Amino acid sequence: MRKPFLAANWKMNKTVKEGLEFLEAFLPAIKGIEGRDVVIAPPFTALHALSNALERESCSVALAAQNMHHEEKGAYTGEISPVMLNELGARWVILGHSERRHIFGEQDDVISKKVTSAIRHGIGPILCIGETLEQREAGNTFSVLRNQVDSGLADVSPDDIVKVVLAYEPVWAIGTGKTASPEQAQEAHAFVRGLLASKYGSAVAEQIRILYGGSVKPSNASELLAKPDVDGALVGGAALEPDSFAGIVTCQIA
Ligand code: PEP
Repeated sequence: MRKPFLAANWKMNKTVKEGLEFLEAFLPAIKGIEGRDVVIAPPFTALHALSNALERESCSVALAAQNMHHEEKGAYTGEISPVMLNELGARWVILGHSERRHIFGEQDDVISKKVTSAIRHGIGPILCIGETLEQREAGNTFSVLRNQVDSGLADVSPDDIVKVVLAYEPVWAIGTGKTASPEQAQEAHAFVRGLLASKYGSAVAEQIRILYGGSVKPSNASELLAKPDVDGALVGGAALEPDSFAGIVTCQIA
């Protein structure tokens, strides 16, 4: 059984004060929920304060960073290293998000270095993959996913792969209000699990969580998560309001 994994990606939203206010409303709203991994990825600037607040509440909600440099330190102006993230209490890091790939030009080879660096530093990578609308319409969805999985995980050993979470995020569904249908999500997730099985064996592939991301809301979370290969959600817009993210975290999973 794969434990459902529900993650909020706040992107470049929320000051420290706003992040703390979110927690004040969110934590009571998910009280008593068990058997799910709940993760929040605030901007770097709010990680420390949120980490302290979660520790005070003895709360099992974990924090993720939204990006990371693969080196530990050095002349990389504006970058944040895995050592720094460890100190701030980030247990996870989102890597290869489509906004990093498409707005900031991150390439697969760099993303691959980040994945192995995160693992080396005890931070769980949440590796994002997904096709653009143009790629889907050209019938290239599976080849895009294959390339992103092959290159993103190129240096991940069989022992380490279970530390990785994948997030299938069709670019055409991110922040657009257009959600992949549960069938489209399942088709892509099953394909990705098949890739993992051919790389690492099916027993290992069965343990790896594959999240769906792209306009997930409280109203569609249950039907997406009901699909056998959809193990959780990476949520942007609908994770900015405590009630809305709580609705997703506590949704019924068939
Ligand atoms: C995301 O940014 O990872 C995302 C899925 O955003 P949204 O939920 O707003 O589509």
